[in-house]
Amino acid sequence: MNQKQSSEALHVIDIGPLPSLPVAGSQARFPVGRIYCVGRNYADHAREMGHDPDREPPFFFMKAASAIVQDGSTIAYPVASRDVHHEIEMVVAIGKGGANIPVDRALEHVWGYGVGLDMTRRDIQGEAKKLGRPWEMGKSFDESAPVSALRSAAEIGHPARGEITLEVNGEVRQRGDLAMQIWSVPEQIAHLSGLVTLRPGDLIFSGTPAGVGPVKAGDRLAGHVEGVGDLVITYRSAA
Ligand code: MN
Repeated sequence: MNQKQSSEALHVIDIGPLPSLPVAGSQARFPVGRIYCVGRNYADHAREMGHDPDREPPFFFMKAASAIVQDGSTIAYPVASRDVHHEIEMVVAIGKGGANIPVDRALEHVWGYGVGLDMTRRDIQGEAKKLGRPWEMGKSFDESAPVSALRSAAEIGHPARGEITLEVNGEVRQRGDLAMQIWSVPEQIAHLSGLVTLRPGDLIFSGTPAGVGPVKAGDRLAGHVEGVGDLVITYRSAA
């Protein structure tokens, strides 16, 4: 059944259905191809990580699409780390692909928006930074990309301002505004599409405001982006 859904070709093994996200108010789902993330895209977060936000062009890293976690899930504390951090982010869902997309046409490529958590094994990422190695094992791991149901731009428009917050166990840990992004969504799309050809189904995690910090077993994370939606994830209590 899954083979039929994902491809006409007969595959030698079954790898299950394509990762996908629910669409709010619909039975149809949004298929996820690739996940790109923007680093240090809010000045206050760049500063808290020890960087000068004024001098840096946007940069990107990836997470595996299989790292997607559905809203409302309870998940295990990640393996191989003792310092897993939350980063609340608005997620941009690309509906129309393209390369070298100009800023003033960029929003035509956006299907919609969601609320995501760029979960980060900060200890592994920190070690990679120190050694000049890739970030992947700090950023792209099992269940490292919780994302809410998506809402279409046709429904909500293209949010460029509005509060973005994360509460952990009912306490506000991150609070910012989309207007504080150093590189706007159209600018992110223009830059990224100059580096790779964007494809329908790509997601862009658009960066996190200040206040990132560790999570622990049993924590309940509740993210909100004004005009976009909500995301709740719980880390299973230690046995
Ligand atoms: Mn991030």
